[in-house]
Amino acid sequence: MKRFLPKQRKMPKPGDRYGRWILVKYLGKMQRHITYLARCDCGTESEVVVKHLRRGHSTGCRKCSTVEERNNQWNGGVKLNRGYKMVRQKDHPRCNWGGYVFEHILVMEKVVGRHLTRVESVHHKNGVKTDNRPENLEL
Ligand SMILES: [Zn+2]
Repeated sequence: MKRFLPKQRKMPKPGDRYGRWILVKYLGKMQRHITYLARCDCGTESEVVVKHLRRGHSTGCRKCSTVEERNNQWNGGVKLNRGYKMVRQKDHPRCNWGGYVFEHILVMEKVVGRHLTRVESVHHKNGVKTDNRPENLEL
């Protein structure tokens, strides 16, 4: 008899972070889905299906997700952080908890053809933080 064997995956554990969610406590399985009590960065607690978090279906409580979605619609996934442009790129090694990376880092990485290390920083030659043309950036 052939049986479908799911691939062995790392089990989620309390303290794991997915977007704004931090897993608090294992609640059990609901319709074969691993369900956790999770706390959003804003303090809201909710039951979550870990699979949905892994796929990025939920990045925070309803209140926070709504705000983020609205922002994304307004500016196409680009937002400002301390005057710098940030681009949504979830699987980037330098992305923050919200899945955003500084755009000037992405531009410089394209120029040098590799990922930048944590100690490297990118300077804006003309001092304009949103001017991310390659010729305005230097390592
Ligand atoms: Zn929240």
